[in-house]
Formats: sequence, C-alpha cells, structure tokens
Amino acid sequence: MRVLQISSEATPFAKTGGLADVAGALPDALERAGCDCTLVVPAYREVFEKNLPIQKTDMQFSVPVGQRNLEATIYSCSLPDQKHNVFLIGNTHCFDQDTLYGGAEDYADNAERFIFFSRAALEVAARQPHAFDIIHCHDWQTSLVPAYQKLLYQSWPTLSEARSVLTIHNMAFQGMFWHWDMLLTGFHWKYFNWRQLEFYGQLNMLKAGIVFADQLTTVSPTYAQEIQAAPGGCGLEGVLAGRASDLTGIVNGIDVETWNPRTDELIPRHYSDDDFKQGKYTARVALAARLGHAAPDDRPLVAFVGRLAEQKGVSLVLDLLHRMAGSGNARFVVLGAGDPQLQEALKVVASEHPGAIDVVIGFDEVFAHLIQAAADILLMPSQYEPCGLAQLYAFRYGTIPVVRATGGLVDTVVDVNDQTRADGTASGFVFQDFQSASLEEAVQRALAAHGNKTLWQDLVYRVMQQDWSWEVSAQQYQKVYERALANAPADVVDVR
Ligand code: ADP
Repeated sequence: MRVLQISSEATPFAKTGGLADVAGALPDALERAGCDCTLVVPAYREVFEKNLPIQKTDMQFSVPVGQRNLEATIYSCSLPDQKHNVFLIGNTHCFDQDTLYGGAEDYADNAERFIFFSRAALEVAARQPHAFDIIHCHDWQTSLVPAYQKLLYQSWPTLSEARSVLTIHNMAFQGMFWHWDMLLTGFHWKYFNWRQLEFYGQLNMLKAGIVFADQLTTVSPTYAQEIQAAPGGCGLEGVLAGRASDLTGIVNGIDVETWNPRTDELIPRHYSDDDFKQGKYTARVALAARLGHAAPDDRPLVAFVGRLAEQKGVSLVLDLLHRMAGSGNARFVVLGAGDPQLQEALKVVASEHPGAIDVVIGFDEVFAHLIQAAADILLMPSQYEPCGLAQLYAFRYGTIPVVRATGGLVDTVVDVNDQTRADGTASGFVFQDFQSASLEEAVQRALAAHGNKTLWQDLVYRVMQQDWSWEVSAQQYQKVYERALANAPADVVDVR
C-alpha cells in the first residue's frame, strides 16, 4: 500500500507539539508494517539549522494561491535508519520565519501559507512515478487536502484513485479565517456553505477536512466519542456525529527508544522492572542534587510535567499543593512552562513550602526524563486530553499516573481496585469530576497504595511491561486505510 503523509510538522524537522511526534514516527512504523510511505512537510527555516541530510531536488513548480503564483522549491531527505521518503516544500515568503505558526499572535497569512503547502504537497505527489493509495493529512493545516484531491486534482492519475484520511489531534484548533480567504483556495464559492467549508460566516479548514475526507481518525477512542458532543466538538460536534461511522480513535504510540529506562542517557542509572527501586532511587538522588537539595527525603514523590495551561488542570494542581504540602505525607515537583499567571502562582506556593515543593519553570527535556524516573506518582488532572503522552512515558519508568477520566487518559489508565488488581489490568488512579476534592481523593488513594509495598511493587512491575509502541497503532491505521480503500469515496454534496 502506498501512503502519502502530509503534515505541517514532524520530528526531527520541526515540532511544536504531539502532532510532530505522530507524523515523525508513524511513517516509519507503517514501513515496518509493509507500507510504502512518503512524508511531505514544510521546509521551515529551522529545518535547515539542524544538520539533517537535506538536498535540493530538481522539482520546482508554481502553485496558484488566489491571484498569485507561489514558487515551490522541493527538497528531499533520507534519514538514517528510516526507509520512507521525505519531501520538504520550500518557499521563502511562506516558511522562512522564526516560528512555525506565529508568536503571541498567529501569522496573518497562515491561510495562504497552508493553502500553498496543501496544494504543493499534492503536486509533489502528482509528480511521483507511482499512484498513491492513501493520502493521510493531519489537523487544520492540511485539512483542505481531501477537498483539493476531490475537487481540483481528480485529473492527476497518481492521485485520482487515492482515498483520503484526516487525523484530528485537537479539536480546539480549527484553522478559521475570514470568508474572503475562500478566494485564496481556488474553490468555487458554492462550497462556502454550512454543510461544507463555512462555519458561522468564516472559512473553517478543519471542517472542510471532516466533510471531504474518506475516513477520519482522532488520537483515542474516548476522544472520538467526546468530540461528537458539546463541549468536546468545539462547535463541530454535529458535523462529526454525521460522520460517526467513518471516525476511529487510535491511541498514539510512543518512541520506545527515547523513553526507555534501560537505555536512557538522560538518567543516572539504567533500570528495568527487575531493579526499578535502585534505578528510581538513584534518579531521586540526582534530581535532589539538580534542585539544590543535599539529599532526597523518603516521602513519596508526586510530580507534574506538562504545559502550564488550564486544559492540563494546573488550577487543580495548585489547590492540591496548597492543601497537601503542609501535611508532610508527600513531596512535590512541578516542571512546566506556559501561562504566566499559573507560573507565578506555582512559584508562590513553592516559596511558601520550601521543604515540600519544587517548581521548575521552563521546557527542559533532561528534567522531564529525570522526573519521570525519580517520581512515584505523576499527576494528569486534565480538563480534556485527546491522547496524552506523559502517562505512557510514566508507565515505562514505573511511575504511577493519577488522571482525570477524559479522552486518551480513559483509554490508557485503568483504575486500581480489587477487580482490576485481580485481573492484572490496574495501572493508575482515575477520578471523574474536574474538581480539586476529586483530585485530592485520588492522590490520597495513590499514597495509601504506595504504603502497601506488595501492591505498589506489583503495580509498577505490570505498568513497566505494557506495550505502547508505534507498532500497535500502525496496525490500527492500516485497518483504517483498508476500510477507506474498500469503501466508495465520501460523497461530495452539491449544494446550490
Ligand atoms: P500536550 O501534547 O497536550 O502538551 P502530551 O502529554 O501529549 O501533552 O505531551 C506532552 C509532552 O511534553 C510530555 O511528554 C511532557 O513530558 C513534555 N513536556 C511538557 N512540558 C514540558 C516541559 N516543561 N519540559 C519538558 N518536557 C515537557
């Protein structure tokens, strides 16, 4: 099966979030499963600063975007140890900037940039010697691709028979632009209607993808359900519910090489399920030293690592710190960056309890690995969580997550109770309500379990053996591709 992946970011080229991890790892996992994959990403300024083996090809063409023709310069890259082809679309005007999408404000020309990218990616595919079976795009930035394939690129033999798949990584980002940006797309105005590209008077790119793609996926089965109703669907719940039979939730895999306590270069002592106690203790000593403490104490270590955003439940974490730091039952460490007010509030509570709380503000890979290795318990009290990765990393390092029952957290963490202990599925502590008291109760349950040496050891041993590799997810994507190929393409509704 020949698969074309089109993404606005992918590791190791450019990354702002989980999308890059998926688009970076999935092609390789699909290749190992027998697919023939090609990945297309933008040639942002930063991709040339990373010492990657990028070469200019002799492909160069112009892409119509509104009244203008934008020149696409095509680069290719063969990554060591990876079989799939990568093409990068270059255009100075669109991609020679400091950041991917903008800073405090999005770039004003984001519609133009990703219309150009979506069309150029299809044009690269059209110039390949073989036809593609599947065109797989991701998030709003490439959500117009299925519409282009169906409406404007049908005459290209390498694309005409392909089926399209859209993966939604987060419904909160939809790529909404004023209606005049329709002129940039090249589509007839008749598609600007409430059943296709329009959403309350604006152009909505994600909606276009949801309507035109042959199959839809999102990053966990529970999130797939949540987005078909308010508030999870962020206004598009009706459109998604209309496509329920074509929507599949597939939990992301993790990079099991990078996040592996047996080989991790960022932790002081390697460990496995046999010797996790020694491994975690050594990490704890190293963490204490990095935080400026003479020695670690022997209270359980409760951690939070993540973006400091309301979505992540940081307000609940703050309440928890205020209520529990004085109790002497646990030690807390928080690593994160984001909302300045949340950063400040965390610093204040840490200064009030210097013997119980450490707060590190910033994005720090080394700290993240060290904390996962050193901690006993990881907090993820998210308001919503399409998939979540930190809980899967925690499992690998024998750290037990405390999570709210939402999105991917429901699909990956099984609450500890008598039955799940007996059947061996227990993997963490789950609470329902987005409330401080509920988080606190779950943390108290986790601390009580930590006090039961046999139970805890058993739990750690089991979570460390779980398989969250990309192989499992890639097989599920393959099934979606097969379904797309077996079915007729999604209808193009002709609204007049
Ligand atoms: P999201 O993609 O919504 O931010 P995920 O849980 O899917 O959340 O992935 C976030 C990943 O980024 C986690 O693995 C976490 O370790 C990492 N991370 C988040 N904040 C930081 C930080 N301040 N320093 C280092 N790593 C971080």
